[in-house]
Amino acid sequence: MAEVDIREHQGLYERVYSLFSIVGKLRPDISEEETEGILKLLPPDTYRALRSMLRQDLLPATFAFMRTLQVWMDEAFRAKEEGKKVVLVPFNFPPELIHAFEGAFPLTSEVLSTLGVVVLEGQGERYWDYAMGMGLPDHMCSSNTIELGSVLTGKDFAPDAIVSSAPGSCDVNSSIHEFVSHLLGVPHFMLEKPGDSDRRGRELFGRHYLSLVRRLEEFVGEELKEENLRRVADKCNECTDLYYDLWELRSRVPTPVPAIFALYTYATRFTMWGRDEGIECLRACVDLARSNLEREYFPAGKEEVARPLWIYLPYFFDFLGFFDWMESHGIANMGDVLMCCFPQRIDTTDRDSILDGMAEAAWNMPMTRQMGGDFMSKRWLDDVVYAVKGLNADCTIYCGHHSCKQTWSVFSQVRREITRTAGVPTLCLQGDSWIRRMTPMAVIQEELTAFVDNVMRGRAGRREGKRTRRSRAGRGGEAAAAAGGEGAPSPEEDIGEADKD
Ligand code: SF4
Repeated sequence: MAEVDIREHQGLYERVYSLFSIVGKLRPDISEEETEGILKLLPPDTYRALRSMLRQDLLPATFAFMRTLQVWMDEAFRAKEEGKKVVLVPFNFPPELIHAFEGAFPLTSEVLSTLGVVVLEGQGERYWDYAMGMGLPDHMCSSNTIELGSVLTGKDFAPDAIVSSAPGSCDVNSSIHEFVSHLLGVPHFMLEKPGDSDRRGRELFGRHYLSLVRRLEEFVGEELKEENLRRVADKCNECTDLYYDLWELRSRVPTPVPAIFALYTYATRFTMWGRDEGIECLRACVDLARSNLEREYFPAGKEEVARPLWIYLPYFFDFLGFFDWMESHGIANMGDVLMCCFPQRIDTTDRDSILDGMAEAAWNMPMTRQMGGDFMSKRWLDDVVYAVKGLNADCTIYCGHHSCKQTWSVFSQVRREITRTAGVPTLCLQGDSWIRRMTPMAVIQEELTAFVDNVMRGRAGRREGKRTRRSRAGRGGEAAAAAGGEGAPSPEEDIGEADKD
């Protein structure tokens, strides 16, 4: 096969942008047959993502989601032409601060990597390979190295500045952003999370955040206006309300929320939170889930065989093989820790209160909140247990993303504690969330099937058996239970059973 010189080709951003511009022209009421006919013209990798997103039962939400991303990419393109600064941020930096500037616009590296993996022929492989070819180590994180690898080819959209908010939470994320800023010769602004989560640590983080605001103001050449901050903060508050509406709907058993909505939620959080398009996307998700509930339509069926929460990341390649496959096998996706940013309404009294609220949001972004915690395994575990209980999840899965050394380092401890405190089993997988070559989807499906068949169905059977034994024990059993004798269930018994799993 002839070798492809990547520098002769377009970068990831432009390729994704071109594809979205075409898909954005589809009619929102496109039929099943029309979708199939059009998508068949596209390469197989693109087909597998768009076929999943353009499923008839997802259409209103998918179109709102694609509109959000299209406006996001459009504005970034226009920003360059209009002389505005494009600021590249990582996913754990809340974009609303940049949205409040008139002369700047945010782009998020991990969202661009994900879009490339999702919709491009060959996914993000050529950009990852280019970065590896430059001598970068393979323990870099594909979530950002794919997009930044594309930037390094010199054929992609280059940012005017880079913000890094991973110091304190993820070394590889911080390093690649810093490396690219040096190579491109653009300013690099850091937001560091201190090691303490007490009052002192929070005050210090607040000072770091305000100092970042001042440095960005200098760089953009504009002082943030209170009315712009308030306009954005009001919209952030609407997004927050919708986020919790969706959380509550997801917790229903069976759940009316489609598996892919977890991704729609946090992709919105990482790009257009605090913008009308972000509100519209989240509202479309909530409306669709409510309508599912009213007409008793449950994407994973009425008899869910498992309700897993992914305790950090899921997989972002092959949507048909992941989201659709889970639903068609009765597995109701409860989402993942990227959803665990627990936004709070911002007090819009004045500029200070708004910036305080935005700093608080930055503190609570996923990864910063868990991996940048003063006691990493405990902060991570607390959020997982809270989400397991709040969403009525009945198992958890660790996808074993290969770059994530810090989560691997405490995984067995976290798994033991999940079993002890939430009483649910955890499946451990291995792979790379953005690179299919590490663990192909067919292997992931096999592992999930074995887990559901051997653990989840076994638990359901034992629960059913227990119920039958209790009801057989009948009134005599009730007396024994009241006396704490044989037949009396105990929390230890339940947890012991989970341990066996
Ligand atoms: S997935 Fe893991 S390695 Fe990648 S940026 Fe997040 S914490 Fe870092």
